[in-house]
Amino acid sequence: MIEQIWKRNDGSSIHIEVKSSPTIYQNQRAELLLLVDISSRKKFQTVLQKSRERYQLLIQNSIDTIAVIHDHKWVFMNESGIKLFEAEHYDKLIGKDIFHQIHSCDQQKVKKSLTRIIERTSDSEIVTMSCHTFKHRLIYTEMVCIPTTFFGETAVQIILRDISERKQTEELMLRSEKLSIAGQLAAGIAHEIRNPLTAIKGFLQLIKPKTKDRDQYFEIVFSELSRIEIILSELLMLAKPQQTASMQTLDLKKIISEVTALLETQANLNGILMNTSDIEEDLLVNGDQNQLKQVFINLIKNAVESMPDGGKVDIMAKAERDGILVTIRDEGVGIPESVMKRIGEPFLTTKEKGTGLGLMVTFNILENHNGRIRVDSQPEKGTVFHIMFPAK
Ligand code: ADP
Ligand code: MG
Repeated sequence: MIEQIWKRNDGSSIHIEVKSSPTIYQNQRAELLLLVDISSRKKFQTVLQKSRERYQLLIQNSIDTIAVIHDHKWVFMNESGIKLFEAEHYDKLIGKDIFHQIHSCDQQKVKKSLTRIIERTSDSEIVTMSCHTFKHRLIYTEMVCIPTTFFGETAVQIILRDISERKQTEELMLRSEKLSIAGQLAAGIAHEIRNPLTAIKGFLQLIKPKTKDRDQYFEIVFSELSRIEIILSELLMLAKPQQTASMQTLDLKKIISEVTALLETQANLNGILMNTSDIEEDLLVNGDQNQLKQVFINLIKNAVESMPDGGKVDIMAKAERDGILVTIRDEGVGIPESVMKRIGEPFLTTKEKGTGLGLMVTFNILENHNGRIRVDSQPEKGTVFHIMFPAK
């Protein structure tokens, strides 16, 4: 059986399928030919081929990652997927275990969804999961799974989308919500507690025994009271920036040296050296003196507290092209990943006597001063806070 193009009498061509078989005709060996006009079938095939190509192009150029998973391996992946996973080549993914890419926390969840699709107990599944890229980045993705076939076997077609940005925005919104609620609460509560506290403190002073034997209890009570006062004043700070900030032109060098003088004793006791030799002269910012001091106190205190066995805190400040950069660097324990993710949240602390408000207040004040803050930290190596003030 062969396919041929024949010519009609009018010159037009025609696709013919020719079937031939030997036969006997008038006692002679002959050939029996069967001619079938397959023009329309041919035409249909080309249309099909074209539409297949178009479909492939569509998948290949889709912005979303489209892939096929068979037996927990990638068997197909489009261009976007290669980009998403930052793979050098298709070979890095095709034929490889999908769980290499999926974060261990999400593997069980993904496995279950895939099983439901393969067993056809579900027509489609949506899973969110974190994935590792080949450049060791963690991305947050949303995956839609639907059943498909791969060489006759059940497989799963997926559409994967990077929603890291969306997640970040959500987290940011959540955080700013928390911040403003904490700020409102703080202002209210702090005032309410402060007044009775003053009364308690005053009367305690009055009934403080003259004899020595009970003195230690009173000392504990007073030290606990002053701890409450510290927490209250930090809380009040939160509500303050908008209200009583009195902006003026300030010399950063002066502010920082006043702060370090204040913290000198605590630092010395802990065997810590504060190095302020890299602070340029005449760095002027617009701000509230007390609030900016609070920022440096909080950051330097954290630096000091991160080095229980002593060390060095470098405080540097210099003029840059687009502002003034202050850097506070310690050689302390570093900020653990779990804290780093939530840094600046209220009541987030790893210290036995911490309040978890210092950084939140700091971030808040800087925001009100149009400053920016960034933190880099390495466990056991130390932490660096970079603060950028707008140029005056
Ligand atoms: P607190 O000091 O009362 O714990 P902060 O808001 O000042 O509250 O800090 C929150 C947490 O961030 C700290 O408990 C600590 O785990 C971490 N942290 C902040 N600064 C540093 C630093 N320089 N080195 C290590 N950890 C830090
Ligand atoms: Mg602190």
